[in-house]
Amino acid sequence: RRYDVTPAAGVAIAAARWPDRPAILDDEGRLTFAELDRRAAALASALHDRFGVRPGHTVAVMWPNHRGFVEAMAAVSRLGADLLPLNTGLAGPALRDVLEREGVHTLIAAPGLPPTGFDGHQTGDLDELIASAGADEPPAPRRPGRLVLLTSGTTGTPKGAPRRLSLTALAEPFTSMLATVPLRSGEPMLVAPPLFHGLGLLWYGVALVLGCPVVLMRRFEPEAVLDALERHRAGAMVAVPVMLGRLLACEPRPLPHLRAVISGGSALRPDLAEAFTRAYGDVLYSLYGSTEAGWATIATPADLREAPGTVGRPSRGTTVRVAGPGGEELAAGTVGRVFVGGGVTFGGYTGGEGGEAEPSFDGLLSTGDLGHRDEHGRLFIDGREDDMIVSGGENVFPQEVEDLLARHPQVADVAVLGVPDDEYGQRLAAYVVSSPDATPSVDELKRAVRGELAGYKVPRDVVFVPAVPRNPTGKVDRARLEESR
Ligand code: ATP
Repeated sequence: RRYDVTPAAGVAIAAARWPDRPAILDDEGRLTFAELDRRAAALASALHDRFGVRPGHTVAVMWPNHRGFVEAMAAVSRLGADLLPLNTGLAGPALRDVLEREGVHTLIAAPGLPPTGFDGHQTGDLDELIASAGADEPPAPRRPGRLVLLTSGTTGTPKGAPRRLSLTALAEPFTSMLATVPLRSGEPMLVAPPLFHGLGLLWYGVALVLGCPVVLMRRFEPEAVLDALERHRAGAMVAVPVMLGRLLACEPRPLPHLRAVISGGSALRPDLAEAFTRAYGDVLYSLYGSTEAGWATIATPADLREAPGTVGRPSRGTTVRVAGPGGEELAAGTVGRVFVGGGVTFGGYTGGEGGEAEPSFDGLLSTGDLGHRDEHGRLFIDGREDDMIVSGGENVFPQEVEDLLARHPQVADVAVLGVPDDEYGQRLAAYVVSSPDATPSVDELKRAVRGELAGYKVPRDVVFVPAVPRNPTGKVDRARLEESR
């Protein structure tokens, strides 16, 4: 299925409906929908005339959360070229590998990023390009370009095949989302996750369709984020759980306009959800999804109150199945593989290496996650299949142990890994960041979890570290953590 709603069309429609409304609020001030549309059109002309960008070309955009990203995205989409948003932390050989593998024709990279070594067309001066644009509009594309989303990678070459989605595939979940999350047209929304990741991009799209001004910040600085929420009277914020944790470390302040805080990208710890709700009220929604599965389920504030740790229920039009080995639906309480269908699941890998399909049943897509439902049908993600630790023949999900350790008042952050063990195959090692005021003893930490966990789940090693390395969506970077041992 293809829909003719592209970022360029979205901007044009918003510009016609709400020309003078701010589209973007960032460190340069406000940019209205009409201005955004005009700049995107001029940028498209310049990319076409100067570099020859046309349908079938891939244009990579490497830009922090700032109007430049949106202008570049809308311009590329206007030309019907394929858009490849890149992690701004990518550099060196990893970046070159991606540019080569994806056959990038033009790279739009923000000024200030390290040299990319790209030998194709590269630009970073959008103002100059826009000023130089001729009056002639490039020909309108016959069909929308594609969006190529990479799943991860700040260090090393991003693993996994590129995910190709129709740009417009993101349109499907909007109506369902609006039925669940109380968003209002025109109400500012702060989008904190990077726009180069599906989560940030999805919510940018939601805001665009609704005509909500989007508050963008190049870096996540908690006090500045709270200032922005207050100053712009934002009605909604999207963030990854680590960001919510950093906001909680600041003195809470009244934010009466904030009605929805959407967490996504990685697991939301129950203690964090509880603390956030205590500080800011019943505003928290927890979203579960992935680059391939799109937006799969959402937990409302009521779900989180009744069942902390849940990711809620499938969104309208989406099927979620917790399946056993034969693909059969499992009973409540039994852990199985999580499959997702409908909604915005992507149509398949269409390029790059490693594109073999994941196992699927009845057309449902395997997420690579293991999870279970409760008796009310609410979904819980126990962890990724790949991260599961097998110690002495017993399966342990790091998340369960991490959630418990994180409850200790002197634990600021924690990650649990399986490390090789002669006797048990693997044993559990906890990497703990202690709170600024006090460091707990190893014995005390083990004691704190022993009453709540089976013996084989109690970490045998406890290592204090200055920080837990995480990727932009807040997932523990297990490879980097292992290297630090
Ligand atoms: P990677 O390359 O490691 O997949 P990524 O962040 O770029 O990194 P995504 O496709 O966004 O890739 O990751 C999706 C995965 O994130 C899910 O399969 C799940 O494991 C985890 N996840 C996302 N949201 C939640 C949530 N609310 N609760 C628990 N896990 C989540």
